[in-house]
Order: sequence, then structure tokens, then C-alpha cells
Amino acid sequence: MTPRHVSLLGATGSIGGSAAEVARALPEQMKIIGLSGNNNGERLLELTREFQPQAISTQNATTAQQLRQELGSTCKIHHGSEGLIKLATLPETDLVLIAISGTAGLQPALSALEAGKDLAVASKEILVMAGKHVMAAAKKYHRNVLPVDSEHSALFQCLEGRDPTTVRRLILTCSGGPFRNVEKAEALFDVTPKMALRHPTWKMGKKITLDSATLFNKGLEMIEAQWLFNVPIEKIDVVIHPESIIHSMVEFVDGSILAQLSQNNMMLPIQYAVTYPHRVAGPASYLDLTSIGRLHFEKPRHDLFPALRLARQAGMQGGTMPAVLNAANEVAVALFLDGKIPFPEIWHSVERAMNTIPLVADPSLDEILIADEAARRFIAMV
Ligand code: MG
Repeated sequence: MTPRHVSLLGATGSIGGSAAEVARALPEQMKIIGLSGNNNGERLLELTREFQPQAISTQNATTAQQLRQELGSTCKIHHGSEGLIKLATLPETDLVLIAISGTAGLQPALSALEAGKDLAVASKEILVMAGKHVMAAAKKYHRNVLPVDSEHSALFQCLEGRDPTTVRRLILTCSGGPFRNVEKAEALFDVTPKMALRHPTWKMGKKITLDSATLFNKGLEMIEAQWLFNVPIEKIDVVIHPESIIHSMVEFVDGSILAQLSQNNMMLPIQYAVTYPHRVAGPASYLDLTSIGRLHFEKPRHDLFPALRLARQAGMQGGTMPAVLNAANEVAVALFLDGKIPFPEIWHSVERAMNTIPLVADPSLDEILIADEAARRFIAMV
């Protein structure tokens, strides 16, 4: 078996770290030939020395210059948004794993598909903002879009080989976040960034941890699933499952439900995106169900956590609305972490942006980016 040649965009983040572990454990399946990172030059240097990629890219020119001095001519060193596109379209790359947060991954994702690469998507923004464009490009160039989010990887595995007309519902599981047991809405005004950054079951980056506390993470995942699996958002439900052992489920018309269970570790979804459609023994540990004992399920508290309702609304309205929701949330989260707005104001800001910024029904990529900018400006002004 020849290894899949992977360009890893976002190597210095949390998903990037797990991807590096998979590559380390499965050298016969995965070879990293392109690496990008933010300006954490030291970490990039380490990863470059370890994996010896053909090319790397940094966010800014200064870090690129420093790395050139360290690495000499052993690999090509790019920077900025152009650099990401270079990595996404390297001739030898088979699969581009996008793990950079924010909108920066969007153009490289589209360039990768155009260049005939498969895409593994860990950045929610890409599908939330421009799912229609990304899936259309994948269809046009006959490429796969493979989910790396644990829930979507679960759905992908449960749907494999099934007739899509027999799917009744997708059921996304959700840990419920650290405030699952809060009784009164008023208590959420006392939430501090420190409290919100304490996730009960997953260890992840700051933004996604905060999104898990507001449930916007699950809302974004509903929209993501809508595009990945071509299922209307009305047929996508969320169930609270505090143990995070079942990663998601598919209900079929005959009443049968298929679920995917595994340890809550991102290595498995990354590995499956790389080895798909094959399975190999990897670095993730096996699940001991008897030591877990029980699994629990609850209804989401829509009254206290409006994120799911807002996401469903954005998904149904379509057009630029999911991009507005995503951008407004990103800025509101930053304001909350800076201590500038109280926790519940994250939802309220997003709802106001959705009610204010005009909807473009069938937007071009440019119109999506304009709506994204408008939402950011709107929240920052408040
Ligand atoms: Mg997830």
C-alpha cells in the first residue's frame, strides 16, 4: 500500500497535533508532504524536521524568513494565503486536511478540489459558509469531501453503502457542555470565560470549547451535516449525550438506528478520512463498554440555549444566513473572552445580526465573504 500524501493545513493547532500523531503511528498509510502553521515557528520547525515535507507555509513573511534561515533549502517555504493554496495544490498531494479555523481555509479547500485532491474537513466554517460551493466543486471534479469532525465521521460511517432515500433522521450527539445542568437562565449571566473554557469530555482549542458551552458548535455541525450528507436541516436532530461515546446516529425509515461508538479522541476520525474506505489498526485505544457502564440521553434545553434554534433557522433560510451566524458568533465569542459582553449576549448578538443583515438567497463566494464581513462589523460596533 502506498501512503496517502497529505497536505496538512493548520498543523500547529489541536487537530493538527492529532493528525501528526496519526501520521507518526501509520507511516504506511499517511505521509505528510505539506505543512502549514500560524506563527508558531518553533513548533513548525519541529514538525518539519520530523516529517520532512516538500513544502511548508507560515502566516507571515517574517516567520517564513526565520524558518528559511533554520532549514536552508531542505523544503520550500511559503507564507500567507498564497502559501496555503500552494500547499493545497502540490502535485504529489492526494488529500488536503483543512484544520485551520476561520475563513482562511475556504479558498485553499476550493483550490484543492479544482486541482483534483480529496478534501478532509476539520474546519466547520468551510461547509457552514460555503457548503453549496464546496460540494458543487467536489461533484464537478469527482472528489471526496471527508468529514473529520467526530460527529460527521460517525454519520459518514453509519451512512456508508445505505440508500439515502431510506434515511429518516440524522441524530447528532452533544455533550451538553459545562452548563448542561444550569437551572435558571439568570445563572448564565454569571458565567466567566474560565468557567466556559472547561469542557466536560473533550480537550480542544479555545473557540470550539466556548462554542460547545453555548451549543453553537452543535448548531454549526447541523449546518455542516446538511451539506455533507445532502439532508435537509429539518431532518437533523440533536440529543444530549453527556458521555460522548456515541458520536452520532442515523435513523432509517424502518425504525432502525445505527450508531458509531469509540473513544473521544480525534485520531480516529482523522485516520478514517486518510484510510477511507479501508480500516487499519491505529493509535486510538479500544473502547471498554463495561467500564463505562451506562450511557445517558437527554433533550437539549432550547429555552436556555438558543443556539440550536438559531442554527436551524439559518440552515432553513440558507443563502448568506449561515455565514452571518458563523461570523457573528466568532466575534461575539472573542468579545466574551475579552470580558466585554456577558455570556448570554453571545446568542443575542448573533440573533440581532441575523435579523439585521440582509439575506442574499443564492450568493456567490464574494457575496458570502461580504456577508461575513458585514456580520463581523455589526457585532464589533455593538
Ligand atoms: Mg464535533
